[in-house]
Amino acid sequence: MTVTELVSYEDALAAYDPVMGLEVHVELGTKTKMFCGCSTALGAEPNTQTCPTCLGLPGSLPVVNATGVESAIKIGLALNCEIAEWCRFARKNYFYPDMPKNFQTSQYDEPIAYNGYLDVDVDGEVFRVEIERAHMEEDTGKSTHVGGATGRIHGAQHSLLDYNRAGIPLIEIVTKPIVGAGEKAPEVAKAYVTELRELIKSLGVSEARMEMGQMRCDVNLSLRPQGADKFGTRSETKNVNSLRSVERAVRFEIQRHAAVLGDGGTIIQETRHFHEEDGSTTSGRVKEEAEDYRYFPEPDLVPVAPSRAWVEELRGGLPELPRVRRNRLREEWGLSRHEMQSVLNAGAIDLITATIDEGAPADQARKWWMGELARRANEDGVELAALPITPAQVARVCALVKEGSLNDKLARQTIEGVLAGEGGPDEVVTKRGLKVVSDEGALGTAVDEAIAANAAIADKIRGGKVAAAGALVGAVMKATRGQADAARVRELILEKLGVEG
Ligand SMILES: [Zn+2]
Repeated sequence: MTVTELVSYEDALAAYDPVMGLEVHVELGTKTKMFCGCSTALGAEPNTQTCPTCLGLPGSLPVVNATGVESAIKIGLALNCEIAEWCRFARKNYFYPDMPKNFQTSQYDEPIAYNGYLDVDVDGEVFRVEIERAHMEEDTGKSTHVGGATGRIHGAQHSLLDYNRAGIPLIEIVTKPIVGAGEKAPEVAKAYVTELRELIKSLGVSEARMEMGQMRCDVNLSLRPQGADKFGTRSETKNVNSLRSVERAVRFEIQRHAAVLGDGGTIIQETRHFHEEDGSTTSGRVKEEAEDYRYFPEPDLVPVAPSRAWVEELRGGLPELPRVRRNRLREEWGLSRHEMQSVLNAGAIDLITATIDEGAPADQARKWWMGELARRANEDGVELAALPITPAQVARVCALVKEGSLNDKLARQTIEGVLAGEGGPDEVVTKRGLKVVSDEGALGTAVDEAIAANAAIADKIRGGKVAAAGALVGAVMKATRGQADAARVRELILEKLGVEG
């Protein structure tokens, strides 16, 4: 393997214009597989969720999963696609152990949905990504190569095959060539996959968890000299499985293509592997052309002909789509586009919304999720939603602050206690004794003590140096272990010393 010296990103963009094509596979969350009744539940023992149909045994016949078709139409509609009045499945023939039938049931020239678009926000601007098609197909089995250093087949001693995944419904969403993104190509790619993931989740057709392989992205990239019309030869980086990796893969391939082209070399049309560790890609196999798969219409399945009435019914039932919802919430919460982008990137929209639904003011809900909790999630290296605290608990903390039982510092300690598994907010407040000292008698005593212990400062304040009160407030706060309302303490001090605030 020859390692190409990369060209700097700036130099690559000065000479070339990137063209991308993104192919995203989404595993649908149906209970059963696309063409048989086998369960799709995760985590079962290998090869326990198979039957003659998904194993491709002679004499078995497939039946289309109606929920799978419905999900495909919903996705197509949400992507502003036209929905085919009549379309067929096709056999994609290939000989590889992950597909026991030796063909994958897919769609070829008759996709269920085509000609759509998805608008994405990049740096406060709208970028329209055009959709070529969204088609139905089935997932392959899973191979595990054992004994090698890399987990790939090269160097492995043996391979294990699990066909539980073979036949799980997939929707493949293919963009038209994405041109005009220029230096923002990596961000556009990431923004598109992010928006698509949000869209899929909002439709309820898949959880679209990339880390679980429920959503995977193939990144096609080519460069053409600045000003040229003709596309260059593309490479296809397969199965990129995080948003950040999508961005990195595009960036790396731009720099690699530029290096090869700049040296007078040619880009080979091939698939490539992405490496998380350093963000690089390496050569996979030379890409098959469509004709290598000898597609032909699937003879065992009836064509799919969704009635217009059904399509319109599904259109009418679509939820508010994420971008529309985001713009609405942005106005309701009074945020800038940039602030809303941060909330989206942090995965906090649903958490903040749920916290508000539990009675918290919008600014407070956002403050906790985007501040203290985001910091904790970051430290622990987990998603915000994975923190062991619920929106209802955050809302309860907000309520305790509002009624004056907690100040900001105590609220932080309460949240810390909830995260540490000490119970709900009220339980933590009781256990840790965190309530603000609002008992005027106790507070008065603490103030008297502070005045007595700091006679010189007290004299200064009596003499008109009101600013010196801060030192006494500090003393009282210390004595009450931070559990007093600082503003009230200050009032009391001035009152007792007979000065006007
Ligand atoms: Zn089956």
